[in-house]
Amino acid sequence: MAVRTADQTAIDEAGRLLRSGALVAFPTETVYGLGADATNGQAVAGIFETKGRPRFNPLIVHVPDLASAERLAVLSARARKLAHAFWPGPLTLVLTRRPDSGLSDLVSAGLDSVAIRIPAHPIARALLAAAERPLAAPSANRSGRVSPTLARHVHEDLGERPAMILDGGATAHGLESTVVDATGDATVTLLRPGAVPREAIEAVLGTALSSGPESDDVHPSSPGQLASHYAPNAAMRLDARDIRPGEALLAFGSPVPATEGSSINLSPAGDLVEAAAGLFAALRALDATGARTIAVMPIPEHGLGEAINDRLRRAAAPRP
Ligand code: AMP
Ligand code: MG
Repeated sequence: MAVRTADQTAIDEAGRLLRSGALVAFPTETVYGLGADATNGQAVAGIFETKGRPRFNPLIVHVPDLASAERLAVLSARARKLAHAFWPGPLTLVLTRRPDSGLSDLVSAGLDSVAIRIPAHPIARALLAAAERPLAAPSANRSGRVSPTLARHVHEDLGERPAMILDGGATAHGLESTVVDATGDATVTLLRPGAVPREAIEAVLGTALSSGPESDDVHPSSPGQLASHYAPNAAMRLDARDIRPGEALLAFGSPVPATEGSSINLSPAGDLVEAAAGLFAALRALDATGARTIAVMPIPEHGLGEAINDRLRRAAAPRP
């Protein structure tokens, strides 16, 4: 059984596995990641194979500290400002990659940029220390499936394929990191809304973020931009103010329309942070009831609501 309680013995063993080129799934403060040594091309290729990703998209490289980030990439003044404000934490910076970074080319899908983040989760940090390598780690789910917020979700999706799944309980944010492109001097661009709200980043920069390419772009620069990236098996009906026969309900706030079917309220109090943390687990649970359609109540578009609605729209998008 690949799932292990994330005590120091398991973390040390996971570090050795990563150095030998194996894959280890681990909790971060966003969702569970599927980690590989980012300097080992074979190991990184194993991520794509294990996730069943249809093509090579660039991955986020996780490092323990700012000095490690500076060895891999060039930080502009603006990037450094964001790093100081949000690292460790759920913000990913796309930066210009250093020619001598030692990173596998596959990590950045051949681009001359690289996405970097310093995670805050104590188990992710302990694993980075044990591995002594930068770790490439996308979400630890089969490609196109909802991101995992529990070790059990990883096991449901990937089975025994990872050499180890470190169990650290439920992830705190439950949404992926916010990704911004900070390669330029003049502008910072939002590539993927996520656990750090746009407003918080704009407050630090003192300017508005420019918006990224459209989500149904043929060549998204972020895999999170693929239209149907977070698809449950059930169809999704957004902005639902009533419930139709046979539908499951994903509720938010109160009051909630009466239903005889399955229903989960993301936050009866209307708290977007609570809603984000429970979003993917709720989608999995409602999907598991076998409902043909999940009706989703309206969710406000401010703060974390931007990222929550982004994921819901992708889950509702037509499947390839
Ligand atoms: P995931 O690892 O599945 O959470 O997704 C990683 C996110 O970071 C995706 O949206 C990537 O496309 C984005 N990303 C990683 N590297 C780059 C890069 N060099 N340029 C633009 N986006 C990137
Ligand atoms: Mg993902």
